[in-house]
Amino acid sequence: MQAIILSIGDELVLGQTVDTNSAYLSGKLAELGIGTVYHATVADDQDAIARAILRAAKDANLVLISGGLGPTEDDLTRQALAQAMGVGLVEHAESIKAIEQRMMRAGRTMPPRNRVQALHPEGSNVIENTCGTAPGIHARIGDAEIFVTPGVPKELYVMFERSILPRLDPQQATRQVILTTKVNTFGLGESAVAERLGDLADRNRNPVVGTTVSQATVAVRIRSEFEDGSDARRQLDDTIRAVEHRLGALVFGRDDTTIQQSLVSLLAERGLIMATAESCTGGLIGKMVTDVPGSSDVYHGGWVTYSYAAKSHQLGVPEALLQQHGAVCEPVAEAMATGALERSGADLALAITGIAGPGGGSEAKPVGTVWIALADRTSGDAPHVMAVRFVLPGDRESVRQRSAKCALQMARFHLLGISLDELHFGRR
Ligand code: AMP
Ligand code: MG
Repeated sequence: MQAIILSIGDELVLGQTVDTNSAYLSGKLAELGIGTVYHATVADDQDAIARAILRAAKDANLVLISGGLGPTEDDLTRQALAQAMGVGLVEHAESIKAIEQRMMRAGRTMPPRNRVQALHPEGSNVIENTCGTAPGIHARIGDAEIFVTPGVPKELYVMFERSILPRLDPQQATRQVILTTKVNTFGLGESAVAERLGDLADRNRNPVVGTTVSQATVAVRIRSEFEDGSDARRQLDDTIRAVEHRLGALVFGRDDTTIQQSLVSLLAERGLIMATAESCTGGLIGKMVTDVPGSSDVYHGGWVTYSYAAKSHQLGVPEALLQQHGAVCEPVAEAMATGALERSGADLALAITGIAGPGGGSEAKPVGTVWIALADRTSGDAPHVMAVRFVLPGDRESVRQRSAKCALQMARFHLLGISLDELHFGRR
C-alpha cells in the first residue's frame, strides 16, 4: 500500500498557514509501514481538487485528503470528490442530526448553511466527527481508498486515530517495517557533513541516510525499511553507529535532543554549575538552557550586559579595555567570562559578545563577528580562560541563534576534552 496526501485550502497555497497535517499523516502511515509517494497542496478550486484526486487515485491506493469540508462557499472538497467520482451529492440524515445536536449543546440553532456539511458523494460513507461539525468521508475510486477529513488539525488527529487507522488494512500494507532516527550535529556545514558521510549517503542504500539543516544544526536522518522488524532495528542501529563514528564530536544527540539538553546532562553528570554573561544574544543562551527541565541543578543564572556600563559595573570588565578595543574582542569576552565566574561562584562561565547586525559592522569586524569565551575553575585554583572568534552568516536572528549554539557546543567540547578546532562552523 502506498499513500498520497492532499491538503486543500487557499491559506495553505498562499503560505499563510503551514501544512502540518501532511507531516502528521505521513508519520502515522510510516509507523504502519505505508510509504507516502507525495504530498500535494491544492487551492480552494473545485476543478483543481477533482483533478488532483483523480491523479492521486491513479498513482496510489490510499489517498488522504484534509481541508475544505467547512460550511462556506470556499469549502469545495466534497463537491470535488463527487465530481471526481462522477456522482452527485446526497444528504446524510444522521449527520444533520449530529450537527444540530452539537450546535444545540453550544446554545445555538443550526444555520441553514451548515446543512451542506451533511452532504457526501453518492456511494461514499460518512465518518463521524466527535469534535467538530464536519463529518469525514470514506470513498473509493478504482483501486484507491479515499479518506477526507476536516482541515482543523485537532479534528483530523482524532478522526484519523478513531476512524481511519482501524480501517487501514495491514494486510494490504507493504508489510515493511519502517524505523527512523535523527542524529543531530552542530559545528560543520551541511555539505561538509555529507562529505564525511561518504558512501553512507548513497541514495539506493537501505537504511537510507539524508541530511536536513535548521539554523546550522545539521540533522542526519536515517530510515530503515525491511520486511522483518528485527532486521530493520539491527540495520538501523548499525547505520546509526556508522554515522556517529564518522561525525564524532559534532554529534550532540539523537531525535529531539537539543544541544542545551545534551550540555545540561553533561553538567549534571559532572556535578558542575554554569553561569552565563551575554551581550549580543540578550539572554538567549540562558533561555535555551532553562528550556531544559532540571536545568536549575546546573545553571546558576546569568547577566545580560548590553552596554559598556553594564559590562564594567556588573562584570568588572575594565573601562579602558572597552574604550580601547570596543565590546567585541577577545579580551572583553574573556573579562566577561572571568567576571561571571568570579561573581557567581560557578564552576564554568560562558560569555558572548558580538555584532548581530544589520548595522554596526566594519571591515575589521564584519556583521556576524562573535567572540565566545569560556572560563573554568575545574582544573585547579586559578581560573582557566579561552576565547574563540566566529564570523557567522545570516541576519540578526540567525547570528543570535547560531552564536548561542556555538557557545553551547563550545562548552560541551570543553567538558568532553575535545579540541575546539573540531568546531568548524563560522571559523575563519
Ligand atoms: P477547513 O477544513 O478547510 O475549513 O480548514 C479549517 C482550518 O484548519 C483552516 O483555517 C486552517 O487553519 C487549518 N488547516 C487546514 N488545513 C491544514 C493543514 N494541512 N495543516 C494545518 N492546518 C490546516
Ligand atoms: Mg478551508
